Amino acid sequence: MTPNNLPQNLARLSDIAYNLWWTWNPDARSIFETIDPELWTRVNHNPIRLLHDVSASTIDALSHDAKYLERYDKVLAAFDEYMHPDATWYGGAHPERGQSIAYFSAEFGLHESLPIYSGGLGILAGDHIKQASDLGLPLVGVGLLYPQGYFEQSLNGDGWQEAHFEQLNYDFIPAALARDAAGKEISIAVDLDGRMVYARVWRFQVGRVPLYLLDTDVEPNAPQDRQVAAHLYGGDHETRISQEIVLGIGGVRALRALGIEPRFWHLNEGHSAFSVIERTREYLHQGMTFDVARDSVRASTLFTTHTPVPAGNDVFDFGLVDKHFSHYASKLGLSTQQFFDLAREDSVFSMTVLALRFSAAANGVSELHGQVARKMWRWLWNDRAENDVPIGSVTNGIHTLSWLAPELSELLDEFLPRDWRDRIADCSLWEAIEKIPDERLWGVQNLVKRRLFDFARLRGLTPPFDPSALTLGFARRFATYKRAVLMFHDPERLKRILNHPERPVQILFSGKAHPADDPGKQFILQVVQRSREPGFAGRIAFIQDYDINVARYLVQGADVWLNNPRRPLEASGTSGMKASLNGAPNFSVLDGWWREGFTGSNGWSIGADANWDDQNAQDANDAESFYATMENEIAPLYYARGADGVPHGWVRTMKAAIKTVAPRFSTQRMVKEYVEKYYSAGK
Ligand SMILES: *Cc1c(COP(=O)(O)O)cnc(C)c1O
Repeated sequence: MTPNNLPQNLARLSDIAYNLWWTWNPDARSIFETIDPELWTRVNHNPIRLLHDVSASTIDALSHDAKYLERYDKVLAAFDEYMHPDATWYGGAHPERGQSIAYFSAEFGLHESLPIYSGGLGILAGDHIKQASDLGLPLVGVGLLYPQGYFEQSLNGDGWQEAHFEQLNYDFIPAALARDAAGKEISIAVDLDGRMVYARVWRFQVGRVPLYLLDTDVEPNAPQDRQVAAHLYGGDHETRISQEIVLGIGGVRALRALGIEPRFWHLNEGHSAFSVIERTREYLHQGMTFDVARDSVRASTLFTTHTPVPAGNDVFDFGLVDKHFSHYASKLGLSTQQFFDLAREDSVFSMTVLALRFSAAANGVSELHGQVARKMWRWLWNDRAENDVPIGSVTNGIHTLSWLAPELSELLDEFLPRDWRDRIADCSLWEAIEKIPDERLWGVQNLVKRRLFDFARLRGLTPPFDPSALTLGFARRFATYKRAVLMFHDPERLKRILNHPERPVQILFSGKAHPADDPGKQFILQVVQRSREPGFAGRIAFIQDYDINVARYLVQGADVWLNNPRRPLEASGTSGMKASLNGAPNFSVLDGWWREGFTGSNGWSIGADANWDDQNAQDANDAESFYATMENEIAPLYYARGADGVPHGWVRTMKAAIKTVAPRFSTQRMVKEYVEKYYSAGK
C-alpha cells in the first residue's frame, strides 16, 4: 500500500496525512490509529509511513466498513471546512493586510514524527504557526530540515545518557519539494567560506500555513556541506555559523525564489539573524544607502529573545565571522571592523546584538524576562534608563488543541459554549468550568492518568507504581539551571514524603540533556541512580527518550506539574501551561510565566518572589519550600476525600488551574498579541 494507491473511497486519507492539521484534530488522529493501532505505535504516529506499511487487506476491509467510512467523511468535512473558511479572526480584524509575515526559527516542534526540535523554543515555534493557521494569518514559517534531526536518547546501565541519530527517510515526511511558478524545483545557494552551497526547499503544510525548510543534503554539494545541517544544534562553531548562514541568508533567498514578499519579519531567537544582513544587502542593491537600508529592515522586523543568561546567547569569534563574511562586508560597503561592529559584544560577534540592532521592536517571553532583557541589553542604547530600552514582552502560550487530552476536550464540549475552540482566549468563557460536576472532572483525570501509566509500563515502569497515588511530573530539557535534582537536597526528608503511609507520592521524570552538556547528563545520572535507591525505588522513575509524545502523556496524566528553575533563568516555560490546561496544577518557582499565572489558588509556588545572589542559599530555601508545601498542602489536599470518594478540595484547585491558565496562556492570546503589538504596527 502507499498513500498514492488507496481505494477511491479512502483516497483522501493522503490529503489528511500530508497536512499537519491532523496533529491537533483528535478525530483525524484516530482515523489513522484505527487502521492498525499496533503499527501506529511502531511508526511513531507517522501517517504516511502507516499508509505505506499497512497491508492492502486491512485497507480493503476498511473501505467496506460503513462505520469507518462515516468517521472518514466527518474528518474530511472538518478538514475542508478548516482549509476553506468563510471567515477567520485575522480576515475580520485586519482585512486590509494581505501580505505575508515571515516567521524564522532554527527549530519547529510540530509532532514527534518530525524530530527537528529540542525543547521549549521549538515547541513554541510549532505552536505559533499552528495558531497562526487557526487565526487565518498570512504567515509563512522558515527553518532548516535536519536530515538526522535531534537525537534519540537511551541510558546505559549506570544511567548515563547516550545519543543516537536516525536518518530521516524523505519518503515519509509530510512535505513536497517547493517549486517556482514554472514548476521547477527551487534551489538556492549561499557562500560558505568561498564555496557555493546549495539547498533545496521542502514545503510542509501546517493547516493553512506553509512551512519552508531548507535542506543542504543535495547534489552537487560536497559531503561536508551535505552534512552541515545534519543535526539540530550539532557540531562545532564552524558548523553552527554555517547552519545559521543557510537559515538566515538562505531563508531570505528561498522566500524570494518562491515569489513571497513578506511585509513583516519575525525572528524567533538570534539563530536566524543573518537574515537582516541579507535584506540590507538587497536594499543596497536597489540603490539605497546603508543607513536607509538598515532603517527599512528595522521597520519591518521583530526579534524575540529567549535567553536571560549572557552565556546562552549565540556568539561567534571574529575570525570565524571574517572567514565567512569578508566578501559580504564589501558588498555592504563596510570594512571588516565596521561589519564586526554591527554585532560587537566585547570581543565576539553576537547574534542577539545583530538582531537587536536591526529590529525596531524586540520582546522577551514573559514580563519578568522582559525586565531582565532590558537590563541585559541596556548598554546597546547608550545606557538609557532601563525602562526606556525598547524591549517589551509577550508572554508565551501553548496551542491548546495540540495539548488538551481528547477525553477532557469531550467534557468541555458538554459544558462550554459550542464555539469554545474559536474563543479560547476569552477568560469569561472558562467560568463554565465551574458547572462540571466534580466527579466528572475527577473521573476524566483518572482515566487519562491510567493511560499515562499504561504508557509508562510499556517504557519499563513496574510495581509498586500505582495510578491511584499522587503523581508529580517533571519533564523538560535537562539544562542545569532547571535544577532537576533540587528535591534531593535532603534525601531523607524526600523519602518520608514519598513513603508516607496514608499519602504516598510518586514522581515521573523525563528529559534530554544536550549531547555536549555533561553537567546536564550528570543530573540524569543522579535521578536514575536515586530511583534505584531503597526509599526511592518504586516512587521515582525516569522515562527515557523524552519527546512530544512523552510530553503529551505526562502533561495530560500527571496530578501536579513541578518546575523549580533557578530564578530568573526560566524566560517563560510552557510545560506548566500544558499541565494546568489538563487539570494538573502547577507547582513552581515564581519565574517566567508562573509569576504572572499564579493566583494563590490555582497551584502552588516554590520559594520567594525575589532574586537571589547566593545560589546555595537559594537552593536551600527553595528545597525547604518544596518539602513544606508537599507535606502541608499538596499531599493532604489530594488525599482528603469526600464520602463519595472524590477529593472536592483538589478538584476545586484543578478547576481554578484550567480556567485561569487556559485562556491567558494560550497561543490564541499570544498570537493575537503579536499581531496587535507588532505585526500590524505602523501599517
Ligand atoms: C513543552 C515542552 C518543553 C518546554 O518545557 P519547559 O518545562 O517549559 O521548559 C520542552 N520539550 C517538550 C517536548 C515540550 O513539549
